[in-house]
Amino acid sequence: MDIIEKLPTVKRLMRQLQQVPFLASKNMYRVMSYFLKLDNERIDQLCRVLQDIKKDVSFCNRCFVWQETSLGCLFCDDSHRDQSQICVVESWQELLVIERTEGYRGLYHVLGGVISPLDGIGPSDLYIEQLINRITSGVSEVILAMNQTPEGEATAAFVARKLKGTAVKVSCLAKGVPIGSNLEFIDRLTVSKALADRKPF
Ligand SMILES: [Zn+2]
Repeated sequence: MDIIEKLPTVKRLMRQLQQVPFLASKNMYRVMSYFLKLDNERIDQLCRVLQDIKKDVSFCNRCFVWQETSLGCLFCDDSHRDQSQICVVESWQELLVIERTEGYRGLYHVLGGVISPLDGIGPSDLYIEQLINRITSGVSEVILAMNQTPEGEATAAFVARKLKGTAVKVSCLAKGVPIGSNLEFIDRLTVSKALADRKPF
């Protein structure tokens, strides 16, 4: 009999953690032992914040960036941001990288991933249609800032094709960003330069 069967509460925790994506089984045991050692106060804090994020955090239904629901979108609702530019990123992580360069003052659009047939992710699984619907006369430029991986490039090409019929200028990051690299691992200066030197797609 598996020893875990004799520890039903530990097994329940394990079952929950097994469903957390990106948590390799080797790390799962480390996380479990971390939780088991936490004092009551920390456990309460952790439970409370998990409940609070469900209650208080949502996606902006325009750009799909996380927002504190009561405060509105940090970007769409900020009149100081340039509403004529939309920078398209794969996820929240890349948005943070670009934001940290402090060289971009426009809006964003989070696609929620990249087209990846091998993983069963097609265009309709991403927020591409919602991006096209955002292109109104007030938008003059769409910057495609996908990671320079095969999937990122294919997604950028797909989005660019979709935007072809519109009057909007489509640009992409300059190739200062090493091929096959993820934006999150590149230094701030390189990303900043790639953004400043962007070129027509
Ligand atoms: Zn927004």
